[in-house]
Amino acid sequence: MTFIPPPDQEHHSPLLIKQLLIRSSLVSTKQEIISGSDTRLTYAEFNARIGRLANTLSSAGICEGKRVGVMDWDTHRYLECFFAIPMMGAVLHTINVRLSPKQILYTINHGQPDLIIVHQEFMPLIDEIQSGFERDITIIPIGDGVGYEDWVSGATANYDFPDFDENQPATLFYTTGTTGKPKGVSYSHRQLLLHTLGVVAGFGAYPGNSGFHRGDVYMPLTPLFHVHGWGFPYAATMLGLRQVYPGRYSPDLILKLIASEGVTFSHCVPTILSMVLDHPDCTQVDLSQWKVIIGGSALPRSLQDRAEAMGISLHAAYGMSETCPFLTVADLSSSDPEIRAQTGFPGPLVDLRVVTPDMRDVPHDAATTGEVVVRAPWLAQGYFGNLEASDALWSGGYLHTGDVGYIRENGSLQITDRLKDVIKTGGEWISSLELENIASTCIGIKEVAAIGRPDTKWGERPVLVAQLAEDSDPDLVRKNVLEEIQSHVDSGALSKWAVPDTIIFVNQLPKTSVGKLDKKAMRQDILSRLNTNT
Ligand code: AMP
Repeated sequence: MTFIPPPDQEHHSPLLIKQLLIRSSLVSTKQEIISGSDTRLTYAEFNARIGRLANTLSSAGICEGKRVGVMDWDTHRYLECFFAIPMMGAVLHTINVRLSPKQILYTINHGQPDLIIVHQEFMPLIDEIQSGFERDITIIPIGDGVGYEDWVSGATANYDFPDFDENQPATLFYTTGTTGKPKGVSYSHRQLLLHTLGVVAGFGAYPGNSGFHRGDVYMPLTPLFHVHGWGFPYAATMLGLRQVYPGRYSPDLILKLIASEGVTFSHCVPTILSMVLDHPDCTQVDLSQWKVIIGGSALPRSLQDRAEAMGISLHAAYGMSETCPFLTVADLSSSDPEIRAQTGFPGPLVDLRVVTPDMRDVPHDAATTGEVVVRAPWLAQGYFGNLEASDALWSGGYLHTGDVGYIRENGSLQITDRLKDVIKTGGEWISSLELENIASTCIGIKEVAAIGRPDTKWGERPVLVAQLAEDSDPDLVRKNVLEEIQSHVDSGALSKWAVPDTIIFVNQLPKTSVGKLDKKAMRQDILSRLNTNT
């Protein structure tokens, strides 16, 4: 029964991406969006360009229900696509340009875009795979000074973005996080709207300068193809912030932009921050106003110490491709390094549990681990065209993250492992993240990963795979690391089974397409190497 019958002309605002622009297009018209070293737009210009892009796409045959792929670096053009494409009712397919050509071809054939906007640097790749396209796809080459501007400039800025069902898909991308072929994940307008509000409330409701707020100057350091650049570009645009897009990541330009544009808020995986901190110009730039959220991987203690010594305010956050991604964030107002590195508190509307295999909650005692399962209004409903994997994802009515962790008495989560990465030795579960954290603080270790090696007697034994810092003596480093781990065993913080039998030094640790430690590759390559040697 309708409680109050709606008037004939009542407007029932559906939750659509276009609504994120309403406020900033009114009150932030003069605010700037900077892209690379030489493009500056006001929000007024940005809004006009969104209209132009929509009209241009419309002339190219794009309309509601069509799909448009994008292959670009982090630029103002990409941000325009974040809005124009879904606002037309089409689906934005953010193509991961760091996958192998074969995987990119797979994601294109699976996602079936009608048109792809391609930065000129990826045109050789398109030329290589185009013969494998399973349908006609219009390719629009763009780049700095070529293509895009000519393509959109003739179009008018007025486009009447329609209202439609808020549950209509807005975005599509592919995750390679698990085994097998990349899996397609899609989000609706409603989910992205609620996620944006969740990000603003979850990262913004802190006193003073902590967190993400209207005074910030925002620069993503997460590729925009990786879970919508974690959703912050939508949040920053809704808030009307000054935004800086660094293009292709190069540490010298990133540092230059932080200094010249006064960047105060960024987010990235640990690898990208390490790359910036390793650059010689780093010591010349004042980083004391820079707040960085580390997500996508645990925040290694060594990186935290290094960044904080340079004045950077670093905090951890957690989520995954299938969760849009925001799930938790560390207490952003805390200056205690231990608390800043915690996986953190669930965001608003996030119902997070840590459960046993039969879905019973583990006690919140900061020790008992289980799988993290979640519900929230912005979780992927399944995988595109893969019912079996979708059912497994949602088994028992909760989304299964595949992550292992525990909850503290105060409700803060700690991820200790991936389910498939946990090391079980002598009947004990060893947290690979904890081992990595301890080893990462040892002098001479540049980067380190802990993996399990099958062992007939113990089930598995932990192995450390590490990259040495320059000019380090492997024998000395090995001795230090083992002593350090042993000291944690002696203090009762670690089980005695956690002391690795083997430490392997490699030139570089394998990384995934988004710069995370690739333990799958390590297990395959390094363990097969170990097995041959032993
Ligand atoms: P992706 O879908 O590629 O973004 O990967 C998501 C996965 O990254 C999660 O399921 C976790 O295993 C891992 N991850 C993300 N954030 C964190 C964090 N703060 N601590 C530990 N692992 C994390």
